[in-house]
Amino acid sequence: MSTITELIHAIPVDPQTGAIAVPIYQTSTFVQEAPGINKGYDYARSNNPTRAALEKIIAQLEGGAVGTAFSSGLAAIDAVLKLLKYGDEIVAVDDIYGGAFRLFNKVYEKFGIKVHYVDTADTQAVFNAITPATKLIWLETPTNPTLKISDIAAIAKIAKANRCLFCVDNTFASPVLQQPLALGADIVIHSATKYLGGHSDLIAGLVITQTQELGNEIRFYQNACGAILSPFDSFLLIRGIETVHLRVKQHCANAQIIAEYLEKHPAVERVYYPGLPSHPGHALAARQAKGFGGIVSFTLKTDTEEAATAFVTSTGYFKLAESLGGIKSLLCHPASMTHKSIPAATRRTAGVADSLIRLSVGLEEASDLLADLDRAFEKSALIYQEKSTAVNV
Ligand SMILES: *Cc1c(COP(=O)(O)O)cnc(C)c1O
Repeated sequence: MSTITELIHAIPVDPQTGAIAVPIYQTSTFVQEAPGINKGYDYARSNNPTRAALEKIIAQLEGGAVGTAFSSGLAAIDAVLKLLKYGDEIVAVDDIYGGAFRLFNKVYEKFGIKVHYVDTADTQAVFNAITPATKLIWLETPTNPTLKISDIAAIAKIAKANRCLFCVDNTFASPVLQQPLALGADIVIHSATKYLGGHSDLIAGLVITQTQELGNEIRFYQNACGAILSPFDSFLLIRGIETVHLRVKQHCANAQIIAEYLEKHPAVERVYYPGLPSHPGHALAARQAKGFGGIVSFTLKTDTEEAATAFVTSTGYFKLAESLGGIKSLLCHPASMTHKSIPAATRRTAGVADSLIRLSVGLEEASDLLADLDRAFEKSALIYQEKSTAVNV
């Protein structure tokens, strides 16, 4: 793991001009001296200096050999799945990101790739799901939205013993808090749209590999399939990464305060935050990560969609939106938003209750966020009462 100083100085000063910010090389091609003789760049899908700077920084940040940048987190996941072939199987975390679930089941299953979903917080369940055809283990920790924690080092051992690749979607933790490659993973992916970008102003994905060989394979698919990150978005993402350490630290501090407040609130049934000793993954999270992240989920005593809707439409600073990891606090109601396509019974079994609300805690003053939640609890109780009164009449 590189230090913050090393990270900041890994962002190169432009050798041509001395520009201290990485220039945006907005070009499609590069002039060659003679066929095959160039300055390291020939065509901008294959390589681009702005993107190359980003890819070098992210490899360093995750402690990997090779970084590759894609046009979205899903494009990054897609590139990893292309390492597989017909007949291969995947063992994946059961409350996987919805878009990854759709990609696995609606796209790759069609090409003969089978996925087994298991509760990866139970390491034995991962071991039990392995078959001779298993070629990839897919993990998220913490998960969305119940923030389940799985043991990266233990699962890495299972992957090694069974000669399958092990990929961790490290979006929720960010490399600031957790470095899966150091714990034995082969591949890390990011939706850089979230904490790495950090300003809710771009869509981007990253793949980082433990080895050069695996990195070369991913780079082949990046060029062959073409879902590259643009020079401008590469620049924006570098700019985001420059402050990711500071931002994540503050996201964690605010989230801890809010989780503790919610745990004591009379209208709250249950709080999901790995930083709370009451969370089943607390000890493991404390061991394998440097912090507990900026996402907090909770359910209401009144476990109905109406009560949750009243709450999520009553906040001021917390804006109702999908996504997470930005400067501004966001909240969402998974049952009617991100997890709407999952049948209600399946969704509830996975712990996504009707009233579950997910907060992406931003960088505002914690006291202002607490006041905002306080007002929302009061106001939503009022709205909810009015509505039920209206029904009764
Ligand atoms: C958002 C997200 C993705 C998908 O990333 P996009 O940039 O939206 O394509 C994948 N995994 C996790 C955990 C996410 O939160």
